[in-house]
Amino acid sequence: MRVRVGVNGFGTIGKRVADAVAKQPDMELVGVAKTRPSYEARRAMEKGYPLYITGGGNPAEFQDAGLPVAGTIQDLLHSVDIVVDASPDKVGRENRKLYEAAGIHAIFQGGEKADIAEASFNALGNYDACLGKRTLRVVSCNTTGIARAAAVLRQGWGVDHWEVTLIRRAADPAETKKGPINGVMPTFQLPSHHGPDVLTIFPDLHIATLAAVVPTTLMHVHVNHVRLTRAPKDAKEVTDTFRRNPRFRVFAPWEHVDGTPQVMEYARDRGLGFNDMMENVLWDEGFRLDNRDAYFFQAIHQESIVVPENVDAIRASMEMESDGRASIAKTDRAIGLSRA
Ligand code: NAD
Repeated sequence: MRVRVGVNGFGTIGKRVADAVAKQPDMELVGVAKTRPSYEARRAMEKGYPLYITGGGNPAEFQDAGLPVAGTIQDLLHSVDIVVDASPDKVGRENRKLYEAAGIHAIFQGGEKADIAEASFNALGNYDACLGKRTLRVVSCNTTGIARAAAVLRQGWGVDHWEVTLIRRAADPAETKKGPINGVMPTFQLPSHHGPDVLTIFPDLHIATLAAVVPTTLMHVHVNHVRLTRAPKDAKEVTDTFRRNPRFRVFAPWEHVDGTPQVMEYARDRGLGFNDMMENVLWDEGFRLDNRDAYFFQAIHQESIVVPENVDAIRASMEMESDGRASIAKTDRAIGLSRA
């Protein structure tokens, strides 16, 4: 039997998660919840996703827009086994009361504090520890990127210490009210919140993070220095290991991917849903090894990296698959991310 899933909040993350869930053979997307009519609500209707009203939205507005509504958020919650909350930062905490009242499992996003859920989640990082938890929080885009890389490096060579400088995108492409549009804004929180957030996945990791926001909407870029516990044979051993793992894309020099504009052009050429780039992006040329010290760049597409993680979080929470790697393979095959 397929697990019944609802998505509450249909913005940048919610609409992507809904599409990914709809493609999974072991899940049924029962409906999506919107606060008001919009081009995104119209698309939900065109895709055949039943629309529910959430967040105090006004049914008359949907009626005036000609968008048929299947019911309220409470109606949706009573028809599903699990809900993915993709509401704006901090709104999930209020929504949690609705999920508790409906007695269903819930997946929250990285804009919520860690204590909103029983555990924070990353598919490569701690799938096993999340099995059967009624509430999970998929960590933020940057934390997901670091956690994936940490899972690979820890398993391969061990990590003694890690320093990351995060060059953060200012806004998502559709967000026109955020900035800066001309400036580099250091985050005067030292360390930035990302390091402590990674500890919700790997509590024993020695990691320090610094961040600055720059005027771009395409991707975040992480500048990494990792001291490994054991020295790899050479840089290729590490980049080949990343290549073999799911959810990494390592670009070779001959591909001429010079930075985030070419990464996103590649994503457009590839043409997955929303032209997304759900993998951590690394470069052979952007990786250097000096004995146990690894230096590398990775780019993170903030709008999509957490999408497959939400699908795996559903499987872990509902105990639909006990093996994290098997869940990752299923998810990726269904959304077309699989290289196999
Ligand atoms: P968004 O603003 O694009 O979408 C949020 C949606 O929720 C909007 O459609 C909004 O109308 C709706 N909403 C408002 N109030 C609501 C309520 N009470 N109940 C349900 N829905 C409500 O935001 P987003 O970028 O999709 O972010 C959602 C979550 O995902 C946040 O926790 C965020 O931190 C996290 N996240 C965002 C990104 C990113 O780069 N956009 C990356 C990773 C994680």
